Amino acid sequence: MTSEAEDRIIAGIGARRADLVALTQDLIRIPTLNPPGRNYLEICEYLADRLGRQGFTVDLIRAEGAPGDSPAHPRWNMVARKEGARHGDCVHFNSHHDVVEVGHGWTRDPFGAEVEGDRIYGRGSCDMKGGLAASIIAAEAFIAACPDFRGAIEISATADEETGGYGGVAYLAEQGRFDPARVQHVIIPEPLHKDRICLGHRGVWWAEIETKGRIAHGSMPFLGDSAIRHMGAVLEEMERTLFPLLATKRTAMPVIPEGAKQSTLNINSIHGGEKEQEEDYTGLPAPCVPDRCRIVIDRRYLIEEDLAEVKREVTALLEKIRAERPNFQYDIRDLFEVRPTMTEKDAPVVRTTAAAIEKVLGRHAGYVVSPGTYDQKHIDRIGRLKNCIAYGPGVLDLAHQPDEWVGITDMEDSAKVMALVLAELLAP
Ligand SMILES: [Zn+2]
Repeated sequence: MTSEAEDRIIAGIGARRADLVALTQDLIRIPTLNPPGRNYLEICEYLADRLGRQGFTVDLIRAEGAPGDSPAHPRWNMVARKEGARHGDCVHFNSHHDVVEVGHGWTRDPFGAEVEGDRIYGRGSCDMKGGLAASIIAAEAFIAACPDFRGAIEISATADEETGGYGGVAYLAEQGRFDPARVQHVIIPEPLHKDRICLGHRGVWWAEIETKGRIAHGSMPFLGDSAIRHMGAVLEEMERTLFPLLATKRTAMPVIPEGAKQSTLNINSIHGGEKEQEEDYTGLPAPCVPDRCRIVIDRRYLIEEDLAEVKREVTALLEKIRAERPNFQYDIRDLFEVRPTMTEKDAPVVRTTAAAIEKVLGRHAGYVVSPGTYDQKHIDRIGRLKNCIAYGPGVLDLAHQPDEWVGITDMEDSAKVMALVLAELLAP
């Protein structure tokens, strides 16, 4: 690729700034709320129409039978592919089209896509319709400047990332859409900031722990056995031994923010005794000794850790209490697990993106690993494709917040980086 061709691509993106803004606004104005999964077909059809006009072959794919898929809320995905003039690699941009609930505290219309200064406001602007729009503009500008490119470009907009991705990328990966014979490079334009490359994420293990007791009248607790007090013993032992142990486990992965460079554990919920009544219930609760107490733990683990060992730490703690505490009985049940993943820094998509960041922004790329998971997990495990990163515009901290916004200049710069990646990998 000559620098003259690169200049043409960069200029093409500058010339598309108004289009980039309008496209992002259109996407924000389709409220693809998940749960429950609204307007998925509408956003897929909007994208299919646009990319179809640009010469892409478009497939709309419903993840029939996937978790969450129903006649009322079908899980629609869109995959667009444009073949080049000659055989070569395929570069795939994958964005999720779903957004999380609006929540409280907004001062803007969450689906109004207001522009003020260099910002576009709205739910999903940063996470990640801004990134989706940037990748589309990047592809269109590259194709216009280099119509005789080799290989292929794919753009997908997929469902349900916010709820695990099973009706989205996982489904497409199971259908072979990320087979390494079909796709060689994947960029997920999540909002990691325009000068950073996200190589992967930590692992996840969720489990439910239940302690057991015996119900009795609350005025005579000695006739029963309190499952909540047993759970109290579990929590106390966690405070005393498990949390300090996790704090000593540090990773060499460049995880951000700093606090996530160690193993972490969150207790997502606790429920014990009588079920909470509806808010309009005006009676008193009943006096009972609780016979069940449950917590859900969310353990995030490091690439240096082994999942079996991570689980053993918790079961060993529970067994220790059982040995010491009269009548202590428990169950533990796995809910969800994701292996940690990290793409090598010398993988082709990493090297070319780092070089493009230097060209566009005049500074070295930063490398990060995400504290939580995203769709790369499915591309890695089901698709068996390792050459995958997250790279896109936006400030991660704004995701899921009130008054979420994305910077227009950031989107434009990211689009330039993405287009130069295409130029490098698919040059004629
Ligand atoms: Zn996201």
